Amino acid sequence: MTDALRSQLTEKGVEYVFCSFVELTGAPKAKLVPVSHIEEFARDGAGFAGFACGDVGQGPHDPDVCSVPDFHALTILPWRPNTAWVPGNLHVDGKPWPLCPRTALIRQVELSRKQGYVVNVGIEPEFMLLKKNSAGEYAPWDAFDTLAKPCYDLRALYRNLELMTTLLGFMQGLGWSPYAGDHEDANCQFEINWTYSDALTTADRHTFFKWMVRTIAEQHGLLATFMPKPFGNLTGNGAHVHLSLADAATGKNLFLESSAELGLSQLGRWFMGGVLNHARALSALVAPLVNSYKRLVRGAPRSGATWAPVYITYGASNRTQMIRVPDSGRFEIRVVDGAANPYLAFAGIIAAGLHGIAEKMDPGPMNHDNLYEVSEEGLLARHIEVLPGTLAEALDALAKDAVVQGALGTSYAAEYLRVKRDEWLLHSRGVSAWERDYYLATY
Ligand code: GLU
Ligand code: MG
Repeated sequence: MTDALRSQLTEKGVEYVFCSFVELTGAPKAKLVPVSHIEEFARDGAGFAGFACGDVGQGPHDPDVCSVPDFHALTILPWRPNTAWVPGNLHVDGKPWPLCPRTALIRQVELSRKQGYVVNVGIEPEFMLLKKNSAGEYAPWDAFDTLAKPCYDLRALYRNLELMTTLLGFMQGLGWSPYAGDHEDANCQFEINWTYSDALTTADRHTFFKWMVRTIAEQHGLLATFMPKPFGNLTGNGAHVHLSLADAATGKNLFLESSAELGLSQLGRWFMGGVLNHARALSALVAPLVNSYKRLVRGAPRSGATWAPVYITYGASNRTQMIRVPDSGRFEIRVVDGAANPYLAFAGIIAAGLHGIAEKMDPGPMNHDNLYEVSEEGLLARHIEVLPGTLAEALDALAKDAVVQGALGTSYAAEYLRVKRDEWLLHSRGVSAWERDYYLATY
């Protein structure tokens, strides 16, 4: 197999391969392997000192974690075609390592397939393009991009045409079928959409996309960030997830029922019921940072709306809901942000949805309101539940939710909670400039 692999790569002009994987944060790690030695790596995986990689559950004394490359997902770098990127699954001592995000997703994908489903996922990554200003702080790079409502602004989009068309062209070349790029609702914020695929392919592409955007932005002297809420006065960076189940045998969309309410089948409603039911615990995976919860608020940034969800509701094409049904046969989960590790986020969403199907969880009636305007009393009277307000709350919910923890597996869930609780503690023990401004002179 491996000789054939070497000649296939050579035929494509590939001389080097990044044997890559992601750890808990979703940031890709890699070793660079010349094709002349690809056989060893294809067989045994590329070895890494796990403790140096991030949170993979290893100490400095542990044996290597090995990323065993999945050549089905080989992606030739459009900006450097003699080099390819291959995501892999972690193994230690020849056995699958439980603290591997990609392995966790594969497990949920296989579970779905056993039940006859292919999970199809699309993602809408938003990002901001920044540069250091004269005060040495990162800020939106384009001094002309100053509208309070900059969304869809043609002129600002045009000023970024070189970068945007480079990215769109690369994605076209990769066969992802990108279909739109726009200026989003914050200054110097953009989004690019490409066609959905099965969950694993979309998670791999999303991981590659984030790296590609950063790389091309750097070539323009800019920093691209997917951080959920870099600036308090601007809308944040979401990564909305669109989802449907297809029949594994026929490919038929099982969420599509044109005559049903919102064009959503009973199966689709149950899956959605599961996602709503587990929303608070899921938040710990899909909105994974301290900073994530500064995005999930009502308030009014400069543009007038955060467009981010606060309540555990669903509705038609209403962007104030946690779940929006923009069209028949699929729904959009809007709580997911730019920091979410797509493998863990999708694994959690699938586990929640399958649970919803197993238990026939009814999502209840849809919501029609502008949820940014409903009063506190109105929310209480109608039993509208709230998403976690902080990472700490989300982690408490995760700690109580066996289904969402199950998506990670016992040891990974425990490690996830430990790492994220440390992050919360680190944050809450730091004394911020705001605290000094607010308290110092009064107390
Ligand atoms: N930026 C918004 C968010 O943080 C979403 C805007 C949109 O609807 O595309 O979710
Ligand atoms: Mg958007």
